[in-house]
Amino acid sequence: MSDPLVKISGLTKAFGDVEVLKGIDLEINTGQVVSLIGPSGSGKTTLLRCINYLVEYDDGSVLIDGQEIAHKDTGNGTRQPRSERELSAIRAQVGMVFQLFYLYPHLSAIENVTLGLTKVRKLPKAQAQSMAEAWLERVGLSDKMNNMPSELSGGQQQRVGIARAVAMEPKVLLLDEITSALDPELVGEVLAVVQSLAKEGMTMIVVTHEMTFARDVGNRVVFMDEGRVVADGLPSEVLDNPENERLRTFLSRLNPHLALEK
Ligand code: ADP
Ligand code: MG
Repeated sequence: MSDPLVKISGLTKAFGDVEVLKGIDLEINTGQVVSLIGPSGSGKTTLLRCINYLVEYDDGSVLIDGQEIAHKDTGNGTRQPRSERELSAIRAQVGMVFQLFYLYPHLSAIENVTLGLTKVRKLPKAQAQSMAEAWLERVGLSDKMNNMPSELSGGQQQRVGIARAVAMEPKVLLLDEITSALDPELVGEVLAVVQSLAKEGMTMIVVTHEMTFARDVGNRVVFMDEGRVVADGLPSEVLDNPENERLRTFLSRLNPHLALEK
């Protein structure tokens, strides 16, 4: 077996005296799609932000493809914080799409996608341009490339966000409730894009409240509660007849029918 692509060990994080992550251990292999579920406030977003090192964690480690993001080994067992430059290189291996779109409002769709390619990956402009076009086509936006974000629907903006993240060719893609801010009729088009990335073997951690989607897209479901991983397994193992009381409560709140059937 090859080493896991993402290896999280003993990860803890507190904000003030509130312990938000209480020791997370999680290993994710290349090509795995993990649906991360759990009640609001359970620490899902914080975990993703630690993986991308958008927040500094307190203890434990996060390895991306064997490399610790926060520190580098100096060889003699001591650790040194990484420079901004090293950090941004490692961070580029981890793509993230957020609940709110965070597109640059003054840049067109294609400019939003090319920016990281020229600035971070240092690709020549023409190459960046054609890669961005290809990705925007891939997410069904070939006719919107030159539109400004304000001229796009929420679903279209979110697809630009996905194109922008995958164009960077990250090793792993983190998606944080990317359909929660969308009108219901726009959810499907965004989930379809995620589904197609999953089929092509993109390694992903997908935080979602859409249980049908969690089950369909993920080959693994992880349930977090109060800063801990409480259940982890195949979608059918975790979601059908859950043994854990908190997971049962969580699922029955989302879908009262399940509770009635039990
Ligand atoms: P989830 O994404 O599962 O809803 P979060 O990771 O967003 O959970 O939040 C977990 C807990 O951490 C919540 O109690 C939240 O209020 C707290 N929290 C998150 N970010 C911060 C922050 N920057 N400062 C203080 N508290 C935070
Ligand atoms: Mg969240």
